[in-house]
Amino acid sequence: MKIGFPNHPRKNIIKEIDWIAKNGFDFVDLFFEEDKAIPEKIDVRKVKKLLKKYNLGTVGHLAWYLPIGSPIKSLRKAAISEACKYFPLFKQLGAEFVTVHSHWSPDLFSFEEGTKFQIESLKELVKKAKNFSLGLMYEPIDTPQDTIESVCRILNSIPQIFFHLDLGHLILFGKEPIEFIEKFHQKLKHIHLHDNFGNSDLHLPMGTGIIDWEKTLKILKTYYDGTITLEIFSRDKDYVLLSKEKLRKLWDKV
Ligand SMILES: [Zn+2]
Repeated sequence: MKIGFPNHPRKNIIKEIDWIAKNGFDFVDLFFEEDKAIPEKIDVRKVKKLLKKYNLGTVGHLAWYLPIGSPIKSLRKAAISEACKYFPLFKQLGAEFVTVHSHWSPDLFSFEEGTKFQIESLKELVKKAKNFSLGLMYEPIDTPQDTIESVCRILNSIPQIFFHLDLGHLILFGKEPIEFIEKFHQKLKHIHLHDNFGNSDLHLPMGTGIIDWEKTLKILKTYYDGTITLEIFSRDKDYVLLSKEKLRKLWDKV
């Protein structure tokens, strides 16, 4: 199992990667989005050199607010072409997989329509990513529409897509991450780890919310030994480092 951390897309990417490397992470979850981590502003040569120096791996991550499920066709098209600007960059920086997030149309559109819009965009994105030898991963976000049923519909409709399990998102509104692990482990390619109290997407340090980590990791470990990103947004990074220690210890124990 490998532990990573994301760069903050609104901060200097070189400084961000430097911190990640110096604090013993295995990889960077490349959060490439507005306003500092965009193709026009990233010095690929410099970033590549830094990753090599510290022997850091990478995973790609597109903006969570890309409107791939918009009811407006031209916005879906724009979301696809925006995503495509980042694929060459991820490839050059050694990523093999890229995350794209669920996106739901307003509730005057049905579940059928909401999933159909996403499926159309995702099919196109899978093809475009493949041109850069990148696999696409689908990450459900923090809405009540992100359910076992919706993930099932998306994954079954697009055989080439992988599953990105965000443990914090999938404990919200009475959901249970373990059910998602049991159901989709064959498609599972990447994990985001953070905690909350079940009603708001707080991105808290591990153990400060309601997730039963021992039980969850024990089940996860029976199916999975890949990359886990600590998607913890505390201002004081000591909490991130403490979560890293706790995760490693618990993973070894369960
Ligand atoms: Zn996430």
